[in-house]
Amino acid sequence: MATVLIIGAGGVGRVVTHKCVQNADTFKKIVLASRTLSRCEEIKSELADGAIEIEKVDADNVSEVVELIKKVGADILINVALPYQDLTLMDACVEAGIDYLDTANYEHPDEAKFEYKQQWQRDKKFKDAGVMALLGSGFDPGVTNVFCAYAQKHYFDEIHYIDILDCNAGDHGYAFATNFNPEINLREVSANGRYWEEGRWIETKPMQIHISWDYPEIGVKESYLLYHEEMESLVKYIKGLKRIRFFMTFGESYLMHMNVLQNVGMLGIEPIEHKGEKIVPIEFLKTLLPDPASLGARTKGKTNIGVVLQGIKEGVEKKIYIYQVSEHEKCYEEVKSQAVSYTTGVPAMIGAKLMCEKRWQGKGVYNMEQFDPDFFMNELNIQGLPWKIIEL
Ligand code: NDP
Repeated sequence: MATVLIIGAGGVGRVVTHKCVQNADTFKKIVLASRTLSRCEEIKSELADGAIEIEKVDADNVSEVVELIKKVGADILINVALPYQDLTLMDACVEAGIDYLDTANYEHPDEAKFEYKQQWQRDKKFKDAGVMALLGSGFDPGVTNVFCAYAQKHYFDEIHYIDILDCNAGDHGYAFATNFNPEINLREVSANGRYWEEGRWIETKPMQIHISWDYPEIGVKESYLLYHEEMESLVKYIKGLKRIRFFMTFGESYLMHMNVLQNVGMLGIEPIEHKGEKIVPIEFLKTLLPDPASLGARTKGKTNIGVVLQGIKEGVEKKIYIYQVSEHEKCYEEVKSQAVSYTTGVPAMIGAKLMCEKRWQGKGVYNMEQFDPDFFMNELNIQGLPWKIIEL
């Protein structure tokens, strides 16, 4: 039985909070803290009286977070604020001596570059403090890493090729909106693509490489190669790997809007002068776009995220596809969030549950594929994200 401190009351924070409440056997006390208290109040109002406590906190301020951890007596902190807060929240956990979990790797607000370097560098600090950090416990990264670890454990002697395939076929009825934080989403999608082959990273122009893929329960969708952070840890931990790529689907309307916004400079992250004031274009755009948390009620359709793995088992070539299909409406019915937040928040809760129950434990900084995948795969089936494996 543990006390969990959830930081960030956005789309993902809502799902994590609901799911922790559903797992009250593990989480005896649940505290949700965020920058804007009214967002916490809204989530609290969706739950039974007394199910959670709420607090206001600035996650960029280490001492304020340490104070809050001590005040509520947290055993673990789940960071579902933004990737900008990863380092301050990790430092706060080390200082307070508690475990840490997040769903996205660190990014500096002024530089659209995401990598594990600074988080991995904190390994010694976590070891010295005798606590654990679990990085990237969302869907991708997160479940996709666990799918690879599961395939490595049960299906292959060596995995040679991995394609991660992420399809959101949901329709929210807007001409343009992003399913999670617009700033993070648009920075990711408008960046150059990158994949790993024979020991080196190969860079591509944004959306340069694309394939048509037939997603089970959805159909054929054009899928575009992007850089995605789970590849950085998977190249370290999967044996015999020759190539890993990541593909995501985008509709025509989304791509057209993205191109226009990019061409007119609305995706810029550098401040510009506007009528005597400095504004950051992408932050202004975020103000104009629908709040991702508001999309839940209007999004219909399915998501399918999975991994195609090819390699050898006992000398024989083999190819399998492990995937998970979620339905936006069902997710909304259960926790008042659409499937993108749901498929991120459920694995965040599962990661924390396994840590609190000491099924996944260690001292230091870890990625998902370093632990026994069986526990996680089992929990996915129980907690609302059932998966399938097919031979190709
Ligand atoms: P939202 O923007 O909806 O929510 C972020 C929340 O964090 C907001 O409530 C925001 O407060 C709060 N916050 C931001 N800065 C601070 C701060 N300094 N102090 C305290 N609270 C703060 O984002 P999402 O819920 O969509 O995403 C949450 C995380 O999940 C992100 O890191 C995202 O990258 C990650 N993600 C991971 C995925 C995966 O599969 N691994 C997929 C999708 C998302 P306020 O309400 O005041 O703005």
